[in-house]
Amino acid sequence: MRKHIKKYVDKAYQLLSNDIGIDLGTANTLVYMRGQGIIINEPSVVAINNKTGQVVAVGIQAKSMLGRTPAHISAVRPLVGGVISDFEVTEEMISYLIRKAEAGSKKLLGPRVVVGVPSGITNVETRAVRDATRNNGAREVHIVEEPMAAAIGIRLPVQEPVGNMVIDIGGGTTDIAVISLGGIVRSKSLKIAGDRLNEDIISYIRGEFKILIGEKTAESIKIAIGSVVPGLSPMEASIRGRDLITGLPREVIITDSDIREAIAQSVDNLIEATKEVLETTPPEIVADIMHRGVYLVGGGALIKGLGNLLTESVKIPVHVAEDPLTAVARGTGIILEDLSKYDEVLIRNEDELPPTK
Ligand code: ADP
Ligand code: MG
Repeated sequence: MRKHIKKYVDKAYQLLSNDIGIDLGTANTLVYMRGQGIIINEPSVVAINNKTGQVVAVGIQAKSMLGRTPAHISAVRPLVGGVISDFEVTEEMISYLIRKAEAGSKKLLGPRVVVGVPSGITNVETRAVRDATRNNGAREVHIVEEPMAAAIGIRLPVQEPVGNMVIDIGGGTTDIAVISLGGIVRSKSLKIAGDRLNEDIISYIRGEFKILIGEKTAESIKIAIGSVVPGLSPMEASIRGRDLITGLPREVIITDSDIREAIAQSVDNLIEATKEVLETTPPEIVADIMHRGVYLVGGGALIKGLGNLLTESVKIPVHVAEDPLTAVARGTGIILEDLSKYDEVLIRNEDELPPTK
């Protein structure tokens, strides 16, 4: 009966406010608006004037400044490393997103907001996100761990008594999580993800070709020809960087096998971490996962051949989710559509828990 009433209240709120879901990723931030889908998809970058402390730009505009800023402006990625390294900057990011999402809105009430945060976030950090969101006009704030949101986004049956497993390979972190009955049963977060692969490529090219390339160049080669198993035909890319000996620009051709060698160690670490999580997962749940498979999400899921290599290495089918970059945002959207159904998957701060008897 209470559920019934809650449903009507929900419907009323839906008419009165623009509810949104936010994926605060280390590389990309997405906003989902109820009834509309993904309306914002921008890099998680904030440019700050060091003299005044003021925010100069956020998102796409700030990213274009990375590596090109004059001395008094710095462009930072507040979430890099998977933890919220800079509360104030994170708050600016949240403020920008809510303002942009709600611009021109004629709704009576402030939005209800579901925020996806990196798994393993501390209580203090959760509270900071909650406060920052509330301070920016949110009427209600609901927090969910990103791997949980991703699993919901790709429509895994997270609330049923079956084991589900997702690996979210983002920019700063990879989150591996086993989920059953609405909760995270086992998880591991490691700092080996897209950024690390870019660094691997930079140091390999410096070592092998004596050329220095920037992060953006490394990332675009990774996306163009990065793979973890040889394809049918070899791939090549030409890159330009600074010759470490002459100091002048130079161009070289590199191949997919160069990139494979560059990222091999990191890929190995990912495989090992996956095995470790499986080894500590209860056997019944492992049996479910063997049957249902593991799902890869996040931008790193798109590295060519990763699903196949993991399948071979852990002896469990590993699938790359459809549209892996938007899984978390879509999950926050699904939660928004039916908050009472997903109550159990949300993170609670201690002061919100019912008093213990
Ligand atoms: P986050 O959730 O941490 O913001 P994302 O899920 O948005 O991260 O993924 C960003 C990462 O995915 C970046 O490191 C980017 O280089 C990488 N990425 C995006 N597309 C591809 C691709 N096609 N191949 C390999 N890596 C990719
Ligand atoms: Mg993410």
